[in-house]
Amino acid sequence: MPRRTSRNSYARHPAGWCRKKDGDDSGTCLPAVVITIRLTAIIVPALTPITIPQQSVTPEQLLKEADRCVKCGLCLPHCPTYRKLANEADSPRGRIALIQALASGELSPTPTLRLHLSRCLNCRACETACPSGVSYGELIDAAHAMLQQSAGIKRPLRRAFLNLLSERKLFGHITRLLPLLSRTGVLRLIKKAPSKPLRQLADLASEIPVYQTPPSGLTPATTAGGGSVQLFIGCISSQVDRPVIDAAIRLLTHMGFAVNVPKQQVCCGALHRHNGFPQEADRLSEQNRGVFVSPKPTALITLAEACHKELLEQTQSTPRLQTISAFLLNTPWPETFHFTPLKARVAVHHPCSASGDSPLTLLQRIPGLTPFLLPENAICCGGAGSYPLTQPALAQSLGEDKIALLKETKADILVTSSTGCTLQFRTRMKRAGLDIEVLHPVELLTRQLDLKSKSDRLIFSL
Ligand code: SF4
Ligand code: SF4
Repeated sequence: MPRRTSRNSYARHPAGWCRKKDGDDSGTCLPAVVITIRLTAIIVPALTPITIPQQSVTPEQLLKEADRCVKCGLCLPHCPTYRKLANEADSPRGRIALIQALASGELSPTPTLRLHLSRCLNCRACETACPSGVSYGELIDAAHAMLQQSAGIKRPLRRAFLNLLSERKLFGHITRLLPLLSRTGVLRLIKKAPSKPLRQLADLASEIPVYQTPPSGLTPATTAGGGSVQLFIGCISSQVDRPVIDAAIRLLTHMGFAVNVPKQQVCCGALHRHNGFPQEADRLSEQNRGVFVSPKPTALITLAEACHKELLEQTQSTPRLQTISAFLLNTPWPETFHFTPLKARVAVHHPCSASGDSPLTLLQRIPGLTPFLLPENAICCGGAGSYPLTQPALAQSLGEDKIALLKETKADILVTSSTGCTLQFRTRMKRAGLDIEVLHPVELLTRQLDLKSKSDRLIFSL
């Protein structure tokens, strides 16, 4: 007999498990054979020896860029890990020195060197503060690629793990298995596993919300006028922050835009690039370039800041590529658009990857709302990419600092436009017993959109 919850049930399928909503015969099937085939597609390439060098930057180029650092130390107070650990090796200046020693062969990739470099959040706060214009992001990415060369057996494992995270469909199937793993006690068992990364993964998995497959294809405009836009939905974010995609489509279609979510789009490549696999990142980027070709100069809209930054750097900036906040700020809105007033204090968090288009102005369009910037926005929240998995203690400490600041503001809602930050805030708030809703700005705007048709409103899964 399948076990039931109030909303979902699981039925045994000859080849796996099918998830069905009560009263719904369609459901979502998770046949084991599909997962096996997809896993094979991830693991086999990961185990295949790489014959081409996994480095976009040569040691000479890396040393040339690193030499631009004059060791002035002006970046140190801006670095979250230096502020936490007060150790030169965990500062931008110290890391640049380590990278120089690694690239010149003075130091070998010892576990200690790896530790200091892997503690870097890649938040690039140091880059903004640097008067010499050192491209720290390029240095640390290239250093990670060098470290992967000598990572031994860990290298294919890491590569397989990143492939798994960035494979949207498979990751989606796995997240939809989580309730089953939780009910059968498997997740609890993994939380007691001797391997720390496994325990950490199980901890994080219990925080991941479960949604149906994200939409793809064309959603027509509901009012006349605006043309069409393309939507980039990312990999992990498309699964764990599905309501954001629904909200964006709803808002844009009511503004008169047909919204196209190309099915063949893939991960932006940021996860691979920041973890030392630049060629995989380039391959994903190339694939996206083929998907997002457009005969017309329609906008290509991103929802998550980290994906936006990666796409922007890969496309060398194109006016077509815009964050949803920038697009909404720069596009005239239909006169029929009105927002239901909301008396609430809204803290606006800026992800490290944010491009500068603050949603503050956008949110001011909602009558009664008091949006304000969260203090110390320039310091990373610790939710960057895979950081909570690789550096759980530091991620927790940085997250707790944010929660303490947020508590003081007496905010009712926190908005952020990064999936990593959203997960980090939700997890830390839950553990601190703090009940503040975390939303993407577009979710809040769409929720308050007064379309004079109550039945037409979004039903949020959160
Ligand atoms: S990227 Fe962030 S964590 Fe890394 S050195 Fe720069 S400021 Fe520090
Ligand atoms: S990275 Fe820039 S700010 Fe930091 S020590 Fe080097 S030159 Fe100074």
